[in-house]
Amino acid sequence: MGIGIDLGGTTIKGGIVNNQGKILLERLIKTQSHRGYSELLNDLLTLIKELLLYAPDEQLIGIGIPGILSGDGAIVVSCPNLRWKNVTLKKDLEARLTQEVNLVNDATAAGIAEAAFGSTLGKTSSMMITLGTGVGGGLILNGRIISGSHGVATEVGHMLMEKNFYSCGCGKNGCLETFASATALIRYCKMRMELGVESSLTTEEMLDGKIIIDAAKAGDPLALEAVNRLAKYLGWAIANISDIVDPEIYTIGGGLSYAGNFLLEKIRMETLKRLTYPQNAVPEIVLAMFRNEAGMIGAANLKRFI
Ligand code: BGC
Ligand code: ZN
Repeated sequence: MGIGIDLGGTTIKGGIVNNQGKILLERLIKTQSHRGYSELLNDLLTLIKELLLYAPDEQLIGIGIPGILSGDGAIVVSCPNLRWKNVTLKKDLEARLTQEVNLVNDATAAGIAEAAFGSTLGKTSSMMITLGTGVGGGLILNGRIISGSHGVATEVGHMLMEKNFYSCGCGKNGCLETFASATALIRYCKMRMELGVESSLTTEEMLDGKIIIDAAKAGDPLALEAVNRLAKYLGWAIANISDIVDPEIYTIGGGLSYAGNFLLEKIRMETLKRLTYPQNAVPEIVLAMFRNEAGMIGAANLKRFI
């Protein structure tokens, strides 16, 4: 059993997870996005202590972080979609708890959940790609998480594609995240509508990824254009990743994986066009099994893949 926490921009989710990857108890704290670090620390402690009431002997606490950790996993160096950076989160939590706290990138945590219990179970090498507010990546090779010498390996969301019409939260321009996240989908549709492109979507409505995907499925030309564009850049990225690590399987997760086979087929097609050896080196590309729970399940099971 373990306690797994998933830190997001608007919510912190925590769960007690058993050894089969089942969440036995789940708690959630809503946070405002862009809050300060001390408030975040307090919220995290409140959540962890509440879960510990139900699992007082629990010694394993894992936290999925939407950003880059230092090579030793102790410091949160930067979260492109949250405001604070360079915080000693592991130390600050451990000073207030008796348990050890392990931090892990959120997409890596999702990749762990899939490898331990989900869509990539039994595969020797698997690459998780999460499509949500940002674009995250998590690679497991021969049963071990790959995080690089500085903790920035598999930051696929910040691979450079080409110049875009707005800059990424990391400060660069042209990152995959600005083409293939839910945020990117929304921005692109808004920008095109402002230019006068007709759509069943409107600039007044609060757009989200689900609304755009549903509109694309219903045949709205702008939504379809936006989803096709997203798939194209993901195809580029997957082909690039294959040229470097050649994983056996990619699993697509995060909120946008709600699109299911509709999106998956497009990503497969775009990848195939860009692979260097499509004749004999075609990776499997599948949908993640876990969506909103992946971060918690993976963070609680971190030790399996270290
Ligand atoms: C961050 C990644 C994170 C992803 C999904 C990106 O902006 O750089 O570390 O995994 O968002 O949250
Ligand atoms: Zn970036």
